[in-house]
Amino acid sequence: MVHEILPVGVLQCNCSIFGDEQSGDALVIDPGDELSKIEKILERHRLRVKAIVITHAHIDHIGGAQKLHASTGAPVYMHESDDKLQDIMDLQAAWIGMRTPERTAIDHPLRDGDVLRAAGGEFQVLHTPGHTPGSVSLWLPSAAKLVAGDTLFRDSIGRTDLPFGDGEQILRSIHGKYFGLPDETVVVPGHGELTTLGREKQFNYFLRGM
Ligand SMILES: [Zn+2]
Ligand SMILES: [Zn+2]
Repeated sequence: MVHEILPVGVLQCNCSIFGDEQSGDALVIDPGDELSKIEKILERHRLRVKAIVITHAHIDHIGGAQKLHASTGAPVYMHESDDKLQDIMDLQAAWIGMRTPERTAIDHPLRDGDVLRAAGGEFQVLHTPGHTPGSVSLWLPSAAKLVAGDTLFRDSIGRTDLPFGDGEQILRSIHGKYFGLPDETVVVPGHGELTTLGREKQFNYFLRGM
């Protein structure tokens, strides 16, 4: 399975591209911006986008989703609890000095426990609210990978001081949904370097005493 991670946009959101070499089917997670960079990688691996997942509706993660949907026809998967963050997209755009992107229509609402079959893999959907109410993480057991959005970072966790953030909820999400996964799980955070769950359990200051 192809897995490319590319930082996109001014906030350098980690966009993930998963691809199946056999079928050429691809899953794109968080196409926040810089679609030309994403398209180049798709071309290099001869992949076609069959699904688009948004981990949460912050502009740096969702900013390019409607455009990618329009150019590929691929359906957009997102948790509906984050749709209200799209109502304040003008405000979000002002925060980072970006133009307000077109609103992204949700083709398939994601729910906790859903299994998304895409790019030749089975991705389990974990609802991990806290950073935003509709934050989701994707757990790919076959590769022991966790795409965490902005819920967990190397040495940090997602901020909860933005609208609809909840500091207690994010800790409950991490404890309840991540801690049962294997320590060797590779965490692909929404920004910055990769890490493992075991490392974060041991060294992440925010997870002390869990
Ligand atoms: Zn975010
Ligand atoms: Zn982010």
